[in-house]
Amino acid sequence: MADYDLLVLGSGPGGQKAAIAAAKLGASVALIERRNMIGGVCIQTGTIPSKTLREAVLYLTGMSQRDLYGQSYRVKEDITIGDLTARTSHVVGREVDVIRSQLSRNGVALLPGMGKFLDPHTVQVSDGSGQERKVTADKIVIATGTRPARPDTVDFDEQTIIDSDSILGLEKIPRTMIVVGAGVIGIEYASMFAALGTKVTVIEQRMRMLDFCDTEVVEALKYQLRDLAVTFRFGETVTAVERYARGTVTTLASGKKIPADTVMYSAGRQGMTDNLNLEAAGLTADKRGRITVDSSFRTSVEHIYAVGDVIGFPALAATSMEQGRLAAHHACGEPVHEMHALQPIGIYTIPEISYIGRTEDELTEQRVPFEVGVSRYRELARGQIIGDSYGVLKLLVSPEDRSLLGVHVFGTNATELVHIGQAVMGCGGTIDYLVDTVFNYPTLAESYKVAALDATNKMRQISMLTD
Ligand SMILES: Cc1cc2nc3c(=O)[nH]c(=O)nc-3n(C[C@H](O)[C@H](O)[C@H](O)COP(=O)(O)OP(=O)(O)OC[C@H]3O[C@@H](n4cnc5c(N)ncnc54)[C@H](O)[C@@H]3O)c2cc1C
Repeated sequence: MADYDLLVLGSGPGGQKAAIAAAKLGASVALIERRNMIGGVCIQTGTIPSKTLREAVLYLTGMSQRDLYGQSYRVKEDITIGDLTARTSHVVGREVDVIRSQLSRNGVALLPGMGKFLDPHTVQVSDGSGQERKVTADKIVIATGTRPARPDTVDFDEQTIIDSDSILGLEKIPRTMIVVGAGVIGIEYASMFAALGTKVTVIEQRMRMLDFCDTEVVEALKYQLRDLAVTFRFGETVTAVERYARGTVTTLASGKKIPADTVMYSAGRQGMTDNLNLEAAGLTADKRGRITVDSSFRTSVEHIYAVGDVIGFPALAATSMEQGRLAAHHACGEPVHEMHALQPIGIYTIPEISYIGRTEDELTEQRVPFEVGVSRYRELARGQIIGDSYGVLKLLVSPEDRSLLGVHVFGTNATELVHIGQAVMGCGGTIDYLVDTVFNYPTLAESYKVAALDATNKMRQISMLTD
């Protein structure tokens, strides 16, 4: 008899939802996590602290009100790190309480420490103070996530040369900052510090950034960030970062030298599998520490599942949660739908980006005809009221069956608004639904109707010429 029906390693979104779903299905469940990491990267160092920091930045700088009250408008003149971290610690603390309570309400045993396999059904839990115990389980879910990848050649000191973990421990807001890597995390932090008044330089090896997003939206973001004094260096590689008493100097392969108070590396993430002793379970990881799974989130060992960032793309809290829930159902032999093919992407830059479905570039490459319907926030009453003059919502519509092929939103509440389009697309609706629907007024949601009318009018022009 095993100690538990299901054992979960890691309490991030994937692990949490796997544990709770299995408990709800009647399984006896235990979850292993370090005491100071309840909620995982998501709650402790990633999603939640970064999004709370962003909210604090938007509020304290008064940025979102400047269209209305003028460019010099500020809620607080001298914003300190303390102002920002106070809000972050408050939210993180509350979220940890919520997770603890959900786990205990559902009877999930929380085993403090780190787990490593002794054999395919046995995990050793070490709590960090020399205490060790063995736990056995019929089924196991690995949800150990990732950590920031650190190049060996860079001497991280957590204050001047940092990554997305140590950025939360900065003692002061840097006057100048280099962000190495223009991925989602790098650009989100670049925009937050730029909004705080830091002069930010973004260095990216590739010639483009966020190339999976709509090209016009990325152009709009670059325009807004340049307006906040962000400098982009695309097609450039960092060859050295040197630390001096009063700052750092970053050297690029092109010979440029860039001084900055702080350098933040955002150069990908590494799966947390090196301390799991995977061989004892009959498993392996790739060189980036990722574990391969099938569509049921089952690894090559039948009773072991893996979910969340440790299995790679898309590595989002949003998808990790759903993977955890689905893996628990599979592990408990409970029928469940497959993961929905339509997944939203949300990027919390300032301004924010969100989309669902395909981009114009993808549709063009796939030779799928489409029409574009656009709505600009400045033409909406709500856009004027909130002072968002740059926001835009774009619908990509099939002229053949009027279905939505993609929804791309840039500006205030983009990450919320996208879900209206997602619901229409997920339920197989057409833009006629959006044309015929009455939206609350004044809202940003109204942009769907405006964009749908725009696309309809364009499509009508073709039929007027050709019919
Ligand atoms: C700065 C930043 C911002 C982000 N912003 C967003 C966002 O806005 N939206 C979004 O959807 N996603 C965002 N993400 C991604 C999101 O945080 C991750 O996709 C999500 O946290 C992954 O969840 P997970 O279940 O894989 O576990 P994780 O959250 O990665 O947690 C894994 C946990 O496993 C534990 N663990 C590791 N090894 C062991 C072991 N041997 N035994 C026991 N426990 C172990 C770790 O201590 C950790 O707590 C962001 C990430 C970062 C870094």
